[in-house]
Amino acid sequence: MRFPIGFMMAQNRHRTRMERSGQKRYPTVLMLEPLYTCNLACIGCSVERHTGKLKDRMDLETCFKAVEDCGAPIVNICGGEPTLYPELKELVEGLIERNKYIIMCTNAIKLEEKVFDKIPPSPHLFLMIHLDGMRETHDYVCNRKGVFDQAVAMVKKARELGYYTYLNTTVFKETSVVEVEDLCKMVDELKANGILISPGYEYESVEKDIFLTKDQIHEKFRSIRDFSSRYKVNATPMFLEFAAGMRELPCAPWSTVNYTPGGWKAPCYLVGETVIKDWETFWNTTNWEYWESRKDPKCLNCKMHSGFEHSAVSEAMKTMKGKAQLAVWSVSK
Ligand code: SF4
Repeated sequence: MRFPIGFMMAQNRHRTRMERSGQKRYPTVLMLEPLYTCNLACIGCSVERHTGKLKDRMDLETCFKAVEDCGAPIVNICGGEPTLYPELKELVEGLIERNKYIIMCTNAIKLEEKVFDKIPPSPHLFLMIHLDGMRETHDYVCNRKGVFDQAVAMVKKARELGYYTYLNTTVFKETSVVEVEDLCKMVDELKANGILISPGYEYESVEKDIFLTKDQIHEKFRSIRDFSSRYKVNATPMFLEFAAGMRELPCAPWSTVNYTPGGWKAPCYLVGETVIKDWETFWNTTNWEYWESRKDPKCLNCKMHSGFEHSAVSEAMKTMKGKAQLAVWSVSK
């Protein structure tokens, strides 16, 4: 199975509940960024996400309010580097008490010190370890030597300790398709639970020319799609078809909402046209129809996983063939 059964059922229940109550748009994932402090300064990361001061972090009450306000069953703790958040243990415990599923996106440098022995493995907790290529590429992207080896050692240890552990790979210009396949092989070698592969996001604050154009995304993802069925790749087949340029999809930025130390980022994790303090204003005033259309110039090269996976699943659910394909994909590997 790609994901634990409880996780998949929670998503299905949420989807059914929302659709039965007539909701056309609803969040499934909250990208919660409790801090904008990091122990790395990766070249593909937006500058504001790693230069914030720890004292400006969100308090726990604010985190939980955002979780309650949006109602998403999945909380992706990112940032910033979550293991630097001093209240991480309390945050994870509070989310599990609220029956949420937690994806913790981490560079793994502090996992041993801040997570192992402090936060026990749980079917509600998934460690998502950042690995953007093999040694040379990953250390280049992270702007520091040795990060690849540390991350690999932590994946191994996390699995030995019984944590659900996934690799999270962003594909940049420097990333060769061969090394993406090497990472997929490594998932099996390290007995990790899977790998999420997504095209790099083009941040305005990043000056280096490391991001792929739409044609380059299509070319790389055509090859990735060709080998993906042999490995535990966690992007759905429909998303991979979209990333490979074989089908079009509308964006669903509302499916993955982003709460930052400044407030709700509208419309999406990537584009912050506005940052709004309260949920009601964010949800009711963002022009979702406009952003779904992808006609804004900022959407031109975007194939961000979080914007399109919901649309990919919705598209699949429209036909028996799509439903069957999704079911087979979910239970295989
Ligand atoms: S296409 Fe990308 S940049 Fe545009 S709204 Fe969707 S996720 Fe954001």
